[in-house]
Amino acid sequence: YFEPSHTIKQLPEQFFAKLVQKVQKLTKEGHDVINLGQGNPDLPTPPHIVKELQQAAENPKHHKYAPFRGYPFLKKAVCDFYKREYDVELDPEKEVAVLFGAKTGLVEISQCLLNPGDTALVPDPGYPDYWSGIALAGGKMAFMPLLKENEFLPDYSKVNQDTLSAAKLMFLNYPNNPTAATATKEFFDSTVDLAKEHDICVVHDFAYGSLGYDDEKPRSFLQSPGAKDIGVEMYTLSKTYNMAGWRIAFAVGNPSVIEHLNLIQDHMYCSIFGAIQQAAAKALTDTQEPAIELKNTYERRRDIFIKELNNIGWKVDAPKGTFFSWLPVPEGYTSEEFSDFLLEKAHVMTAPGNGFGPTGEGYLRVGLLDDEERLIEAVRRIEKLGIFHQ
Ligand code: PLP
Repeated sequence: YFEPSHTIKQLPEQFFAKLVQKVQKLTKEGHDVINLGQGNPDLPTPPHIVKELQQAAENPKHHKYAPFRGYPFLKKAVCDFYKREYDVELDPEKEVAVLFGAKTGLVEISQCLLNPGDTALVPDPGYPDYWSGIALAGGKMAFMPLLKENEFLPDYSKVNQDTLSAAKLMFLNYPNNPTAATATKEFFDSTVDLAKEHDICVVHDFAYGSLGYDDEKPRSFLQSPGAKDIGVEMYTLSKTYNMAGWRIAFAVGNPSVIEHLNLIQDHMYCSIFGAIQQAAAKALTDTQEPAIELKNTYERRRDIFIKELNNIGWKVDAPKGTFFSWLPVPEGYTSEEFSDFLLEKAHVMTAPGNGFGPTGEGYLRVGLLDDEERLIEAVRRIEKLGIFHQ
């Protein structure tokens, strides 16, 4: 047995690993578990993207190492995508980094910008991988609570002045995992002002950029004037095109941060499989119909699920974006107790809110990641528990 390093010991527990074990146990015992706990898209990648990969994989050019820092055609496709979707101009050489999944970039960014002991602001609740990156870099986290009364946006006036002065990095994520909230133009504009005043680099995680409902297209952080001076945005193909297994994403924005990310990628990965890069360029620039249809599918699931929950007496708000719902736990239970209760008694897997940070206590995150019939079946099973009343 070899002792892990101090760095490894800093890593927080992966709470999903624990959850998955519980589900595996029930499944082995023969129970039909409806898995709404993990954020794993259930539908396949659109066929035209898969076909592009198949064809590209036949090309011996792609059997060798691809160029460091990604093919120029992919970086151009990223620029075309940002121009078309958000009217944001990007320099393909200086303002785009190709990533082996957004998770990788979100972990590496802390190593790029933090020295041991430096402070990073993180949303609470938030996507736990921000914490892992900060821990690996030896940094300190300062939580920014996301409260319902503030539409799940951080209230900067409540962040301690010393913390703001000390902070080097801030993570934001809208549409938000886990609260399913979206951001306003005013909020992003005020974030740029704050970051300029306190010399903070903002990392906006735009993983759910394509998933905004009720005809509200989520804003890119880079649409705010001056955003490129103080930050970067991470965009993954995992959710927009159901390509989570492919591991392809990109960071765009501030050229110095992009250079640091590229440098770390040079050392860690050398390059991403060229055929995947070719298929990713196709996804970004060819028809967007499948991406729109996917968003519509999640929106239909959301409408049915939320209506059914309200019908049985679980009063919940409709999510504005992502494929999650953020549900308040009934009185008398902690998040973990209620999540365990639903799993054990109804065989419905959810994620307890406290796994995303202390402010997540009192909530459950539910992924709309099964078809409408199964979502309705999940509500029927919950109804039978007799906890909620109309
Ligand atoms: N950021 C958020 C908020 C996510 O929810 C996820 C995936 O669940 C990711 C990033 C990871 O994206 P990728 O699949 O590109 O690593």
